[in-house]
Amino acid sequence: MLDLETNEVPAELAELNAKVAPDDPHIQGLRVARNRPGVVRIVLDLKAEVRPLVFALQPIADYGHRLVLDIHPLVAVDPLAELIEQTQRRPAPPPDKRVARLATIVIDPGHGGEDPGAIGRRGSREKDITLHIAKRLKALVDGESNMRALLTRDGDYFLALGARVEKARAVKADLLVSIHADAFKRPNVRGSSVFALSDKRASSELARALAKEQNESDLIGGVPVKGMDSHVKLTLRDLTQTGTIDYSLRLGNSVLKRLGSVNELHKPTVEQASFAVLTAYDVPSILVETAFISNPQEERRLNDESYQDKLARAILEGIKEYVAKHPPRPQGPVTVSNPPLALRR
Ligand SMILES: [Zn+2]
Repeated sequence: MLDLETNEVPAELAELNAKVAPDDPHIQGLRVARNRPGVVRIVLDLKAEVRPLVFALQPIADYGHRLVLDIHPLVAVDPLAELIEQTQRRPAPPPDKRVARLATIVIDPGHGGEDPGAIGRRGSREKDITLHIAKRLKALVDGESNMRALLTRDGDYFLALGARVEKARAVKADLLVSIHADAFKRPNVRGSSVFALSDKRASSELARALAKEQNESDLIGGVPVKGMDSHVKLTLRDLTQTGTIDYSLRLGNSVLKRLGSVNELHKPTVEQASFAVLTAYDVPSILVETAFISNPQEERRLNDESYQDKLARAILEGIKEYVAKHPPRPQGPVTVSNPPLALRR
């Protein structure tokens, strides 16, 4: 129950109940009515016990002032939760029992939910395109005998950048590929690019702009990003030690090379920038800018299913080349051949 201090029921609120899908996991229905002079009451009928979280958000991007009511299930259901649990429960096998295992590829569709990502001139939303390409890529990876893929999100919902990194680490991913289709202020900017994490300044003006936008995603979603900078710095110390960036660059090069056969390349080499989603210090991670949604021609292609497929196949070929050169270490995470993944949110 939520009481708002207003006299009129705003049209947006009156229509809210119609937006609750019958199969919504949490909400049965929603009633909005004037309760007494000066108070409009919203009543949510719930399917199970939840933990509510109410907070106000300052205007950012296309959004004005927002009051957000988040409903968290008491028991969180997560696409990777089951696997994470298995990973933590299962003891490492003794050295003589170690067998080759599947390479775990975590695919991260950029943005989602409250955070639409970049918007094309024809209205395409980056968060939708990244999810389409990511799902195609997952199906392709799962079709390979030596790999399996996991998505950080499998629907249109918000996921903080830190949570994406944590998921990849929790399943002891062999690599993480974050999929994007970003925008730049000049509509003629085009081409695919691949990024690895930088321990220095971003390698180009574009890289800096994109990193800034990426890291602002968390602000759009309303998640407080406290100490992001110090976290990045702290992580970078470890990165230097483990050489993860070096592996990320190798992976990036393989993927970039293949992307060059389906799109022109924005830059001929892997760029480096401080993307928060690439900071898993022990998981080689790359961010693929498939194309620029801000370029009208590329926006059209990004919506084309056969082109999405081409992009996914190019990324797959790059991943395959990398995994062939750097097979997963045997002491890796879970040795299930067919992961029982309940891909439900
Ligand atoms: Zn993006």
